[in-house]
Amino acid sequence: MSKPKVLQIGALSERFNRELAECYEVTALWQRVDPLAFLQEQGTAFELLVSSARFGCSAEQLACLPNLRAICSFGVGYDPYPLELLRDRGIVISTTPDVLNDCVADLAMGLIIDTARQLAAADRFVRAGGWPAATFPLTRKVSGKKLGIVGLGRIGQAIARRAEGFAMPVRYHKRCQDLSSPYGFEADLLALARWADFLVLACPGGAATHHLIDADVLAALGPQGILVNISRGSVVDQPALVTALLNGHLGGAGLDVFEGEPTVPAELFALPNVVLLPHVGSGTHETRLRMEELVLANLQAFIDKGELLTPL
Ligand code: NAP
Repeated sequence: MSKPKVLQIGALSERFNRELAECYEVTALWQRVDPLAFLQEQGTAFELLVSSARFGCSAEQLACLPNLRAICSFGVGYDPYPLELLRDRGIVISTTPDVLNDCVADLAMGLIIDTARQLAAADRFVRAGGWPAATFPLTRKVSGKKLGIVGLGRIGQAIARRAEGFAMPVRYHKRCQDLSSPYGFEADLLALARWADFLVLACPGGAATHHLIDADVLAALGPQGILVNISRGSVVDQPALVTALLNGHLGGAGLDVFEGEPTVPAELFALPNVVLLPHVGSGTHETRLRMEELVLANLQAFIDKGELLTPL
């Protein structure tokens, strides 16, 4: 029996690419010399597509795939997909929710602690031979401080649960109040930023949250406040953030994601109260394996039953 045809937009891990190729007839789009020209010629052949929160699938690519029925995406971000277009065409899409909550929430707590206690800066101080000559400056306490969370979804709730272990009062902002949540709702983002010692972003990227964190929100968070972003770079007005940090109008920032990543504003490199990570929120062996398994399970479920396991 012939294997089902699958179009794969970008490379995932070697293990995933190998397993996908064992079960399906995979066309690796990124290996084509001119991917768009290939799609224009051969796009009608594909009903199934595998991609990721990083590679997505553009409207231009979709236009070349008139028979596409399902997309199985690696990751939970869906900002690089034209969702309205998918809805209009009846194309279903799955992501990999829940399996990454722990790791992304762990990383958010790590960024809170690292930024406030300046672990990375203290490590650089020791490695540079600074300890015998000087005392590392005092930093900021974490336990008991007020935590504001923007987006109390799957990851936001996992962060809130961890914060309870640090005796942190938690309040949150999102579009609709969650009446079953034990945490205080704040409809006004500026009020949440004024209240919080730490403001953690755990909402989706995309047009609806573009620059939600602007100069006014950063000013409300203030010179003692710390911003942690594990959501998407687009949620923060990055030039405003850089200015606030350079002027000392913001206490610090722990950032896993950036506007225009992998480029990171070089002005931030010298600041000890800023922690910069290369978008590694879900990046552990255990979690990446579970995400890959979920992509494959979604694909097979759609082929077998016409339904995705974790549709968006
Ligand atoms: P989720 O369960 O869908 O939660 C998203 C939360 O954001 C919900 O509480 C939602 O509530 C809120 N939200 C949506 N639009 C909003 C808006 N305009 N303003 C304020 N809040 C808004 O998603 P999740 O699984 O927790 O993932 C959240 C995001 O984390 C993902 O979309 C992704 O961008 C990011 N992420 C990053 C990494 C990383 O490696 N750094 C890894 C995984 C995920 P309402 O709908 O009520 O507003």
